[in-house]
Amino acid sequence: MPGPQRFAGPSDLHLHSVHSDGTESPAQVMAAAHRHGLRTVALTDHDTTSGWAEAAEAASSLDMTFLPGMELSARHEWRSVHVLAYLVDPDHAGLRAMTDRIRSSRLDRARRMADRISRDYDLAWEDIVAQTTAGATVGRPHIADALVARGLVRDRSEAFAGILSPRGDYYVALYAPDPVTAVELVVGAGGVPVIAHPAGRAGLLPAPLLERMLAAGLAGFELGHRENVEPALRTLRRLVAERDLIVTGSSDYHGLGKPNRPGEHTTDDAMVERIIDRGTGSAPVYP
Ligand code: AMP
Ligand code: FE
Ligand code: FE
Ligand code: ZN
Repeated sequence: MPGPQRFAGPSDLHLHSVHSDGTESPAQVMAAAHRHGLRTVALTDHDTTSGWAEAAEAASSLDMTFLPGMELSARHEWRSVHVLAYLVDPDHAGLRAMTDRIRSSRLDRARRMADRISRDYDLAWEDIVAQTTAGATVGRPHIADALVARGLVRDRSEAFAGILSPRGDYYVALYAPDPVTAVELVVGAGGVPVIAHPAGRAGLLPAPLLERMLAAGLAGFELGHRENVEPALRTLRRLVAERDLIVTGSSDYHGLGKPNRPGEHTTDDAMVERIIDRGTGSAPVYP
C-alpha cells in the first residue's frame, strides 16, 4: 500500500502560461519548470483557472506535483494588488462571477487602450488579438507584444516603461475588487490567499488594510520574489514571524515575457505543507 501522498521540493508556486500573459502553453511551462529542477509547481494565471487540466497532466507525466492556483486581480485606490489563490474551487459561483467580470473588463479596457494608442501609433486592435491566445485573460503584456511586433518598442519592458505606463496618456484602469473582497472570495472558494510580490517599489499596502485582509483570512505573503525590496521586505518579515503566517518564494515565470526563470525563488516544504493542509476547494495532483 502506498503511504499518504507526498509532494517533494523544490517548489515554485507562481508561474504563468498563455492562458494569461505568459508566452508558453501550460505543458511548456511545466516542462520549463522540470528542466529547472522543480518537483512541485503551481500554475497561477491571472483571473483564470482554464490552464489547470493541461498543466496537471503535463506535471504528472514529468513526475512533478501540481498545485492548482490563480493570481486574482484586486485594486486599492490607484494601485493593483495581486492575490495568489491556491487550491480554490474553480466552480465556486462567487469567484467565477468575479473572474468573469474582471476578464470582460480587461478586454474592454484593452480595446480602449488600443484606441488611444492608435491615435498616435500604427497599431490596430487586430494586432493585439494576434498576440493573444483565444480565451486568454488579456492584459497590457499582450498590447506590449503587439507594439513589439509592430517594431514600435524593443520588448515588453520598454512598452511598460513608456506607452503602457499608468502615468501615460494611453492608460485605462481595469475593474478589480478591493483587496479585502478578493481575500474573502478566495477563502469562500476554499482557497489559500497569499499576496503576490507584496514589497515592490510601490511600497507596502497601508497597515490597516493589511490588518483587514488578515482578518478576512489572508494566509501569507510571497516574500521570495525578485520585485520585493527593502525596507518593506523587512517589515513584512517581522509581521510574518510575529503572526506565524505563510511565506512563499516563487519565480513569477512568464516564458519569454519576463526575465524571471523557474525556481529563481522557491517555497520551503513546510510552507507548501501548510498551504495544502489549509486549501479545501481543490486538491493537489500528485504524480
Ligand atoms: P495589467 O494587469 O494588464 O495591467 O498588466 C500587468 C501585468 O503586466 C503584470 O501581471 C505583469 O506580469 C506584467 N508586467 C508588468 N510590468 C512588466 C514589465 N516591465 N515587463 C513585462 N511584463 C510586465
Ligand atoms: Fe503577469
Ligand atoms: Fe503579479
Ligand atoms: Zn504573476
